[in-house]
Amino acid sequence: MSTNTTTSSLAFTSLGLKQDLVKNLSSLGYEQMTPIQAKTLPELLNGKDVIGEAKTGSGKTAAFGLALLNKLEVKRFRIQSMVLCPTRELADQVAKELRKLARGIHNIKILTLCGGTPFGPQIGSLEHGAHIIVGTPGRIEEHVIKGTLPLENLNLLVLDEADRMLEMGFQAALDNIVGRTPLDRQTLLFSATFPEQIKAISDSIMTDPVLVKVASNE
Ligand code: ADP
Ligand code: MG
Repeated sequence: MSTNTTTSSLAFTSLGLKQDLVKNLSSLGYEQMTPIQAKTLPELLNGKDVIGEAKTGSGKTAAFGLALLNKLEVKRFRIQSMVLCPTRELADQVAKELRKLARGIHNIKILTLCGGTPFGPQIGSLEHGAHIIVGTPGRIEEHVIKGTLPLENLNLLVLDEADRMLEMGFQAALDNIVGRTPLDRQTLLFSATFPEQIKAISDSIMTDPVLVKVASNE
């Protein structure tokens, strides 16, 4: 595992992102990258597996969100990326932020799959197709087991708030889900803290990850 400690320029324009995304960022009033974005985005856009550790509110969603949207082939209507979150509320927040970042890029379909809502309509939505799935491990695992969530085209998997997912006892669900995704995927893990359990899961599901840590005073 290598550790990235260099600081880069804070302009989003320095990254080589797709033009539509850059335009959106300025219309959203995102003028500069936050520290976690500046430190992870060059690695993320390079296709590296990345572990990003930074406190709540530091802009982790846009860090992985921009990498995800930049990698997405909109014309290929297949599930290409998936974000796993600990709760339905957090999954809804992530989906909302992704939709903001993708605003004006036509026909990007983001589907949320969480527990606490009926299963049947989710199957119907999946039959209509999506580019991006955002959801909670329990419900996603159910879909994966039932064969209603096709993951053979997945090339980017994000574990958001991984520390909380592990605290909530989702380890087995995560292992089951990850085990059914293509091996050549890019895997990202974001977390506010880095307990021992995260080291274990990152060792088992990530390939030569870059560890990026932003201290709380940065
Ligand atoms: P985290 O996941 O690290 O807790 P979020 O991704 O939820 O943080 O981001 C916190 C807030 O910061 C959100 O309201 C988001 O829209 C905003 N934000 C993220 N990146 C930027 C940026 N580069 N410039 C301005 N605001 C940003
Ligand atoms: Mg977050």
